[in-house]
Amino acid sequence: MFLGTSAATPTRYRGLPGLVLKYRGSLLLFDCGEGTQHRLVEAGLSPLKIKAIFITHLHGDHVFGLPGLIQSMAMNNRREDLYVYGPRGIADMLETVFEATKFTPPFNIHVVEVGGGEKFKVLDRVWVSVFPVRHTVEAYGYTVYEEPRPGKVDVEKARKLGIEPGPLLGLLQRGIPVSVGGRLVRPEEVVGKPRPGFRLVYTGDTAPIDGLRKLVGFDSVDVLVHDATFTSEYELEAHEEGHSTAFDAARAAVELGAKLLVLTHFSARYKSPEPLVSEASRLHPNVVAAEDLLKLPIRL
Ligand SMILES: [Zn+2]
Ligand SMILES: [Zn+2]
Repeated sequence: MFLGTSAATPTRYRGLPGLVLKYRGSLLLFDCGEGTQHRLVEAGLSPLKIKAIFITHLHGDHVFGLPGLIQSMAMNNRREDLYVYGPRGIADMLETVFEATKFTPPFNIHVVEVGGGEKFKVLDRVWVSVFPVRHTVEAYGYTVYEEPRPGKVDVEKARKLGIEPGPLLGLLQRGIPVSVGGRLVRPEEVVGKPRPGFRLVYTGDTAPIDGLRKLVGFDSVDVLVHDATFTSEYELEAHEEGHSTAFDAARAAVELGAKLLVLTHFSARYKSPEPLVSEASRLHPNVVAAEDLLKLPIRL
């Protein structure tokens, strides 16, 4: 769910960048502009469910909401550890604010300063990898991906081999052969190939990135959430400011084999995202504009 979709300053309808991903009841937050915690309240999502926060870069519009959100977690009696990932300087920033405001978090905050190329297991079965992007300050994009899911069980075939749904099938699904009526049944006889897990890429603010596919490390992804601050008529300005046009975003989506491209981080000059969507749609067949509180599936 998008919590904020505007660039640099909030507008009446769009808050500052924030994106939250829900996986089996746990939340992962990407960027935390001012107002992010208000949007979480509006969406009925508890900050206590946030296991980890990923900050793309230390521009204020992406990070000024973080101290307030952490303070609210404390007010709501959070005791569970929190992980915060971001570029160099994020630990200092948090410490300075906490010290100046005499705030001591009542739970552990593990701040991990990234440099690109790392992978972290952030939830059961879910990983996040970090890649460098091109902005005016040190900035990183994040790829969130799920471990492959076990293949589908052919229940009919299993029955014919004398295996009813139950623990034996569970073993087979985990790749363990089982013995039935004096015969060894191998997993591949009744279980299909493992299915890829979901993959989502979030670039944060960036100019077009050379070799994006190699940096991300996947041949295809479900969802790409990409900077689309401007339309192509402002291409020069976009690139100088470390941003992309909607067309740049579409090119990235094609390169990554993204099934869905979500444009976000819109300049306040666009009253409607329609020109951005139609520009990107010239190159990519499945483009949507992010809206605050827009909810989308992460597996397509
Ligand atoms: Zn920004
Ligand atoms: Zn920025």
